[in-house]
Amino acid sequence: MLPEELAGACGIDLTDARRIVSLAHRLGELPPRAPATVRRAALEAARSAGEIRTLTLVERRASAEDPFVKYAFRLDDGAAIESVRIPLERPGRYSACVSSQVGCALACAFCATGRMGLTRNLEAWEIVEQVRLIRRDLGATVGGGARVHGVLFQGMGEPLANADRVIQAIRVLSEPSAQAIDMRNITVCTAGLPSGIRRLAAEVPGVRLGLSLGSVRPGRRRHLMPIDGAHPLDEVLAAAGEHARATGHAPMWAYTLLAGQNDADEDAASLAALARGFAAQHGISPRLSLIPYNAIGAADAPPPSPGGAEGGAAPADPFARSARLEAFRAVLSAAGVGSIVRYSGGGDVGAACGQLARPPAEAQRPGGRRASPRPGAAAEAEAEAAARNASSRAERAAAAGVRVAMDPRSRAR
Ligand code: SF4
Repeated sequence: MLPEELAGACGIDLTDARRIVSLAHRLGELPPRAPATVRRAALEAARSAGEIRTLTLVERRASAEDPFVKYAFRLDDGAAIESVRIPLERPGRYSACVSSQVGCALACAFCATGRMGLTRNLEAWEIVEQVRLIRRDLGATVGGGARVHGVLFQGMGEPLANADRVIQAIRVLSEPSAQAIDMRNITVCTAGLPSGIRRLAAEVPGVRLGLSLGSVRPGRRRHLMPIDGAHPLDEVLAAAGEHARATGHAPMWAYTLLAGQNDADEDAASLAALARGFAAQHGISPRLSLIPYNAIGAADAPPPSPGGAEGGAAPADPFARSARLEAFRAVLSAAGVGSIVRYSGGGDVGAACGQLARPPAEAQRPGGRRASPRPGAAAEAEAEAAARNASSRAERAAAAGVRVAMDPRSRAR
């Protein structure tokens, strides 16, 4: 809740409301007694407005390969979601990659969440609470002023299919007395819902837009991203262009390279032409992020049947990582279009782009893998992983000859 909303709902002074909101975000609850800075009557009025709810951490997995951490949270109704803590280049700064829905109805072929179907939208507080709990975990495991610097709506779900609550969550996240995250450090990544893109521009213009392309060939894009049937790419790009002109922000175009699907020279040439056309039409060049595909299926599972019916719990992986990354970039570069290769970490704990998925039953299973929030153990594991990663990531990047960017992460959307 925003301070203005709390003040209006409880009939209290706005200054008191701001201080109460600040307490709630810092403590996760209202203190039993009013501190000196808050009037007791105001605190009691706020308490009577309703209880402060939270999510239950059921699993915390720190990558052994890099400093990414994945969290699974159980919701009040037993459903579960996942979020990721992403290290940024500047030490002590992190992004929180949050979920906006339980599952997703859009069924993008390269995304594990898309295999779940949609269970429900998250409430605004459930979105905000992911960030607050990641921030709390940072304080316990990293300390030293480490903070959540940005938020990415790239976790489970299509954020613009839940636009009302996502926009409300953005307002709370950016509210100085709540999470105080600069809107310019919040990115909403969509598979392409034009009306939602226009709402972002009108209602939260400080926020940045990410757009998942999949492919720029219409038939191929529709095959990879069924939403293209309802909203073809030209319609989505028209809305993205309006967004860019209204906000002055360059959109991020995410392109997940899939072997044999969208990684040919012709695909790169079409993508370059589209980027140049967008820049010419709207006066702002898109920032192009190429994402190596991360496996989403079981390596030992049988391939899907030709009819599409899949038996068993873990379907086979439908795609393979492209080996044409550099060749693809070279075509873009020759056409005058720059790109970055997005580092997507946490693959060993299922935290990488496109991998988030959490069946409700797994989160509730009594014998399932559980959270290990003992701060000391987590901090040790992370320090170890960070030390390993500091050298190995740089080496891998140098060996691959790519620019590694960890901010903001782009997922396989
Ligand atoms: S990529 Fe995003 S929109 Fe597509 S299925 Fe996954 S969560 Fe949904």
